Amino acid sequence: MQRYFANKVNKNIILGDGDVHHLLHVMRAKRGDEIEAVADNKLYACIIDSLTPLVIKVNYEIPTDSELNEDVTLFFALAKGEKIDFVVQKATELGANKIVLLKTERCVVKFDDKTLKHKLERFEKIAKEASEQSHRLKIPEIMGVVDLKNIPSELLSDINLVAYEKEAGSTDSLFSNVNKGKSVSIMIGPEGGFSEEEVNSLTSKYNFRRVSLGKRILRTETAAVYALS
Ligand code: SAM
Repeated sequence: MQRYFANKVNKNIILGDGDVHHLLHVMRAKRGDEIEAVADNKLYACIIDSLTPLVIKVNYEIPTDSELNEDVTLFFALAKGEKIDFVVQKATELGANKIVLLKTERCVVKFDDKTLKHKLERFEKIAKEASEQSHRLKIPEIMGVVDLKNIPSELLSDINLVAYEKEAGSTDSLFSNVNKGKSVSIMIGPEGGFSEEEVNSLTSKYNFRRVSLGKRILRTETAAVYALS
């Protein structure tokens, strides 16, 4: 059944313009059709009461829980090509609640203000579609670009992990640090990796813990997926 993220006003469901178009012109919905809508992190079975004007009524709440126990933030260094698109989609499917675009010493990608605005809009669309597809109750927040040297405290978690390639080896450090029910941040570096100075400042200034993602050196996009999964 088609699912949309929506606003709920009393028993009425209000869809965004793009979703109204999709419902009426792609799905060719008719009066009486049922859809699912997510509002305020809850899932509702809804009925189309009328088409013109469009009135969608909540029928009943569907108990569901597709979210992770932990509140997960992914810090992902600006990477080339479509890697960020890919990671936004996969991080959404894997349950991240925040995706923070990160600037580090070795990032080769730079976005000017205009490009960044356009990119953020694109990433938000990818996250919304991935949330609908994966039946999530939340759409992750896409933020950035944050400089590694100056991480706002509100983006940090109870546990902050930096996947450092020079720690490559046993993954005990990763798994031993994920405690049920706590908020967790995981930071993934760019194609060129982290400098030792960066990792030292993360551990000393922000109390990040170095973790390994295994014995092999993963591509940045693979590392993000591995760490989240
Ligand atoms: N240029 C680095 C090198 O050759 O050693 C590799 C960087 S890797 C392509 C990009 C990022 O993925 C790293 O900064 C790190 O965050 C993460 N990563 C990849 N493999 C890892 C591993 N085995 N352990 C920890 N982090 C890893």
